[in-house]
Amino acid sequence: MARYTGPRCRYCRAEGQKLFLKGTRCLSGKCPMNKQNVGAPGKDPRARSKKKTDYGLQLREKQKLKRMYCLLENQFKLTFDEAARIQGKTGENLISLLEQRLDNVVFRLHFAASRNQAAQFINHGHVFVNGKRLDIPSYRVQVGDVISIGEKSQKMTIFKENLKEYTKSGLAAWLSLDPDNMSGKFNAVPRREEVDEVKVIQEQLIVELYSR
Ligand code: SF4
Repeated sequence: MARYTGPRCRYCRAEGQKLFLKGTRCLSGKCPMNKQNVGAPGKDPRARSKKKTDYGLQLREKQKLKRMYCLLENQFKLTFDEAARIQGKTGENLISLLEQRLDNVVFRLHFAASRNQAAQFINHGHVFVNGKRLDIPSYRVQVGDVISIGEKSQKMTIFKENLKEYTKSGLAAWLSLDPDNMSGKFNAVPRREEVDEVKVIQEQLIVELYSR
């Protein structure tokens, strides 16, 4: 599946807020958003400071959420369409579905430093679900699924390094983790209000955008 591989910090600059796309770097002093007066990318940052139309606001909200979860437009739209088919509020369903993606769960379990890196590990066959190798980053993790790093891959330094983040920042409430065996469990589908990162997102604007 295609993925954006260009510079990701420009996304945060475009939105004027941190989207946390580079793992621990985003929390360090190296994050460019920590500097004062960070402008939008491009030759003339002032061009972005114009008052936004309703459409512009809806579009920016969609771009933010799409980029947070490292999806391309068609992948995001397919997830949205599915969220609209499920009972309940479409915006909230959308966030739950995004949280259920295997690449997101691998990232949240601290096996990977970012969702992009998680997708790479999955594509390279390092990730197992319920004991079986699974190389589909968009796989929808189900409640009770056990996600682990393959036995041979566990010897790789990068997984040990990434797991150090677990002791620093803990674990999402809906997951459990056995760091010694590099194995974690998806215990529940998170509700929108449990996902801290998306508190800055007004998902209703995304629903309005796709309803045009
Ligand atoms: Fe965004 Fe992270 Fe880059 Fe900071 S370091 S601008 S939060 S991607």
